[in-house]
Amino acid sequence: MVKRSDMGNHRGTWSMRWFLSVGWILIWTWGCGTSAYSADEANQSRTCQTRGAQGDVLLISVTFDGAPQHVKGTFLDRSVWFFPIASGRYAGLLGIDLQDDPGTYHLLVHADYSDGPRRKSVCVTILKKDYPVQRLTLPKSMVELDQATLRRVRDEAQRVRQIFKHESPVRLWRGPFLEPVHGVISGRFGSRRIINGFPRSPHSGEDIAAPQGTPVVAMNSGVVRLTMNHFFTGNGVIIDHGLGLFSMYFHLSDIFVREGQRIAKGEPIGTVGATGRATGPHLHWGIRLNGARVDPYSLLAIAFEKT
Ligand SMILES: [Zn+2]
Repeated sequence: MVKRSDMGNHRGTWSMRWFLSVGWILIWTWGCGTSAYSADEANQSRTCQTRGAQGDVLLISVTFDGAPQHVKGTFLDRSVWFFPIASGRYAGLLGIDLQDDPGTYHLLVHADYSDGPRRKSVCVTILKKDYPVQRLTLPKSMVELDQATLRRVRDEAQRVRQIFKHESPVRLWRGPFLEPVHGVISGRFGSRRIINGFPRSPHSGEDIAAPQGTPVVAMNSGVVRLTMNHFFTGNGVIIDHGLGLFSMYFHLSDIFVREGQRIAKGEPIGTVGATGRATGPHLHWGIRLNGARVDPYSLLAIAFEKT
């Protein structure tokens, strides 16, 4: 015999399951509708006022009345964090990954108020960019890896991915951004690399060649999240600038900072070197913005007002 209280519990559990499954379907449908809408628009090749090329960073500004507690956006399944810049105005950095498909999409922005959320949609067009092809010849030992080295490379990549997963909700940077070292560009962001005759992943940073030992400075304020000696990237530093923005400095000869250290914009973090897979002294400068691989010089090109 089933006790009344058990039935109540059972019914309660079932109701909760029904509620959760309906909730799930609604969310799923809403998500699907959103992406289908984006794809349709992409097919129509309509362009929006807000547009940028693959690898670009865009400064997006939105207005919301009153005082929302929190403003956050979603673009192609990536977060876009917003921060107040003036009364009722909010800005956010949107990163277009160098391999995002060209087309027209929507950045959905949610503002949370005490009486519920309000939403806005910003139309964004991604334009195709033709990145150059770079052919490199490297020693076999740097390209054909043994099992132990492959394991090491995989573990190192996993460690770096973990760092990017944690998007700290506090903005530590203030515009504008700095070039970490002045020199000659020896490897362009986005170039399609052919190493020893075989196509590889596109280059996700800028290579700036400079004499060994030249100081490298932080492009903006932040917290040192990782210092490492990795097989490909050599001695490296990753700085978390908050709101999903990270900068990377690789192939350093010396590292001056430690993990967890607060760093100011323009503060030296190390020196140019040729550690890891490098053919000569240079800085590999990379940026991740909410998971997107973006061109560091695109960040420098942004005209900041009061950010
Ligand atoms: Zn590089």
